[in-house]
Amino acid sequence: NRVVRLVKRPAPGLVTPDCFEIRDEPLPEPGEGEFRVRISHVSLDPAMRGWVNDGKSYVPPVGLGDVMRSFSAGIVEASRHPDFQEGEAVVGLFGVQTHALSDGKGVQRADTSIAPLQSWIGGLGMPGLTAYFGLLRVAEAKEGDTVVVSAASGAVGSIVGQIAKIKGCRAVGIAGGPAKCRALIEEDGFDAAVDYKAGNLAADLAAACPDGIDVNFENVGGEILDAVLARMNPFGRIAVCGLISAYNATTPQPGPANLRFLLTQRLRMQGFIVFDFIRENPIALADLSQWVSQGRLKFREDVREGGVDAFPQVLNLLYTGENFGKLSLKV
Ligand code: NDP
Repeated sequence: NRVVRLVKRPAPGLVTPDCFEIRDEPLPEPGEGEFRVRISHVSLDPAMRGWVNDGKSYVPPVGLGDVMRSFSAGIVEASRHPDFQEGEAVVGLFGVQTHALSDGKGVQRADTSIAPLQSWIGGLGMPGLTAYFGLLRVAEAKEGDTVVVSAASGAVGSIVGQIAKIKGCRAVGIAGGPAKCRALIEEDGFDAAVDYKAGNLAADLAAACPDGIDVNFENVGGEILDAVLARMNPFGRIAVCGLISAYNATTPQPGPANLRFLLTQRLRMQGFIVFDFIRENPIALADLSQWVSQGRLKFREDVREGGVDAFPQVLNLLYTGENFGKLSLKV
């Protein structure tokens, strides 16, 4: 078993490879009520930057010496569990390693007749559920709304835009660079795209949202959130999903300079974590799967080679914008 363990808490900034120890360990043998998974894909998620920090959050930090936490997908290769048979495709918090033991808690079966296994850590996994619940439950997007989403070409953002279109909204994506912005319109069906790196964020956003903004799905924070706040319509809703621009900050980040619009436009701004809606996962998965089957929802996947050894380097692509779609490692 090839295993990535966290051995040091990172200093502020991008995580450095010396925070992890990557080594060979004996293959774990399942005991009674357990099964072993041969992992095929490890999900890389922006939240991992928070999981390796000590401190208060929505989940405890990864412990020093522990296998790095991750959602992973794979195939059951040995089982002494009554409900999981050899050969079944499964997804769970199996960690960054080639093989994992599980007692089945929190493990989900992946129906590969709907989408390939790696999509079950992407569009049909945590990122897809995040897009679904954030847009429809937290921000309560409805037909006719103008919906803006940041980090729009990524795992969550691309799905937010596509669901917004399915629900009859105007979808506007904010992303870095012309290639990503072109893909938003040509591949994902967004109505407009704004390149925040082009230097005219406020004016370009105004042009893309001539009727203002009703719903903001916030993935980035910082200057992007500030620009969006200034265009929000009265009684608009902001779902705070992520604040990736601050995850590697080395100095404290100032709050939004345009917070006053929360007051003057009577906005509602709510943070959420995808796990808040876990009881509704079956409903969301039924909708997402149906849209996939109907060809109305597509997943952009960025699958990297290099196995678990490449984990520290590949993780940082998320924070430099070098990934294009749901980032995962092929194991
Ligand atoms: P993505 O696939 O969107 O990858 C991250 C993208 O963020 C990059 O490609 C980059 O796109 C953009 N980005 C990175 N740094 C910056 C920056 N400084 N300024 C602007 N954009 C930046 O990741 P995910 O879809 O997995 O995650 C998107 C967001 O959703 C994250 O904030 C994440 O933490 C959050 N999240 C929250 C969950 C919840 O339960 N609340 C669950 C899952 C995700 P570009 O090239 O366009 O800059």
